[in-house]
Amino acid sequence: MKKNKLFLRIFFTFFMTAVILIGAFTILFKSFSPERKIPGHLEKHIIKHFSLLQNEVGSSPNPEQLKQFFDDYGLQLRHENLKNYSDELKLPDFLDAEKNDIHLSDEILMGKTKNFFFLLVKNQQPKILWLVEQNKVPKGWRIPFITIIGAIVFILVLSFLTIHWILKPLRLLTKGVQQFSDGNLKYRIPLSQKSDFFDLADTFNQMAVKIEKMILSKEVLLRDVSHELRSPLTRINVAVDLIDDKKIKTILKEDIQKMEYMIQNLLESYKLKHSEFVLKKSNEDLIELIQMVVKDYANEKVKFVLDIPGQFFMNIDLMQMERVFRNLVENAIKYADRESLIITITLKDIDQGCEIRFHDNGVGIDEKHLSSLFEPFYRVNQVRTPEGNGFGLGLSIVKSIIEAHGGKIHVTSEINKETSFIFSITK
Ligand code: ADP
Repeated sequence: MKKNKLFLRIFFTFFMTAVILIGAFTILFKSFSPERKIPGHLEKHIIKHFSLLQNEVGSSPNPEQLKQFFDDYGLQLRHENLKNYSDELKLPDFLDAEKNDIHLSDEILMGKTKNFFFLLVKNQQPKILWLVEQNKVPKGWRIPFITIIGAIVFILVLSFLTIHWILKPLRLLTKGVQQFSDGNLKYRIPLSQKSDFFDLADTFNQMAVKIEKMILSKEVLLRDVSHELRSPLTRINVAVDLIDDKKIKTILKEDIQKMEYMIQNLLESYKLKHSEFVLKKSNEDLIELIQMVVKDYANEKVKFVLDIPGQFFMNIDLMQMERVFRNLVENAIKYADRESLIITITLKDIDQGCEIRFHDNGVGIDEKHLSSLFEPFYRVNQVRTPEGNGFGLGLSIVKSIIEAHGGKIHVTSEINKETSFIFSITK
């Protein structure tokens, strides 16, 4: 909706301009149109003219005479003394004329009815209603009005299309910013140098290059440090074996194990992200995998609800996908503060693969954390407890695995209510 707001606003502006212009033209037309009364001298002429015509018709004409009159002057007429003739032709009657008079004169009835223009001189005896078929009268007056309205509509459509075209670079810029904020750091805005927005796009592209480099060097640094830590850690591990004090030895061993786990995760995460990790893909049943994971964690405190088909085969790295599933289930259990945790797993068949949703009714996550949740080392509660719930690496690895499978992951949550991790896997 937001995306179209600008266009809606422009369209609304044009629409209002059109309404104002059309209103102004209508008022202009009205103010130029003649007085809504026939001027006195013209009225006299008309009456005189129709008296002459009446004399020609006579007071008791026969149908042949009226037909002849029509052929000569193009005028139909309803004569007071020849009712049947007019009724047969379904001509308007005197009552119609009275009802449809447009009050241009006190002496003459004039107006339109039943596809006829009519005229009746009030004091003439016998009464005669003079009639001309509407389609025999040229519609000259309509042409300028229709032309003006047409021109206004044409100008509006043209202006709207022009604005749409002018704003095209802005749409490209918006797309670029969106792609970049979605994590596609390689995206650059493809604007030609001739475009008025080229400078803006170019600045954005330069900024994108810098940010991409910064993020990459941060990741490379993390990888190198992790690498370098491995050998000293192995040496410390050997040295710890030589310690006699069992208690100290156990504590140190546990710490070393945690550090090894963290280093291993960091290195794997880097490899997954930078395509250095080759997925070992094969055609596997995701449903079987879900059921296997569920079996391992279900107990009286953790209930699973499954909304999944009978089977669903996809080309995946089974071990990595199992890691994703276990990680999401373990998180749901780890961060639940209630006795009766319900984890709902849904698998939906979508166009290019499937969408899987892990939902739990646990503690939920505050909205402000959601956008950073998949970053390495990001934890909602940054205070590290001695027993340590984790290093904040789980979700970053989950994301890397999903993306390595060509999918996307996002999270929705409401504090103290629920959390959902939703991801797709593409074929
Ligand atoms: P960790 O190793 O600390 O669990 P993760 O990357 O797996 O790291 O998770 C990052 C943070 O996201 C966790 O510290 C936790 O606060 C939050 N989190 C993850 N899953 C859930 C969940 N299902 N419910 C509530 N909080 C969650």
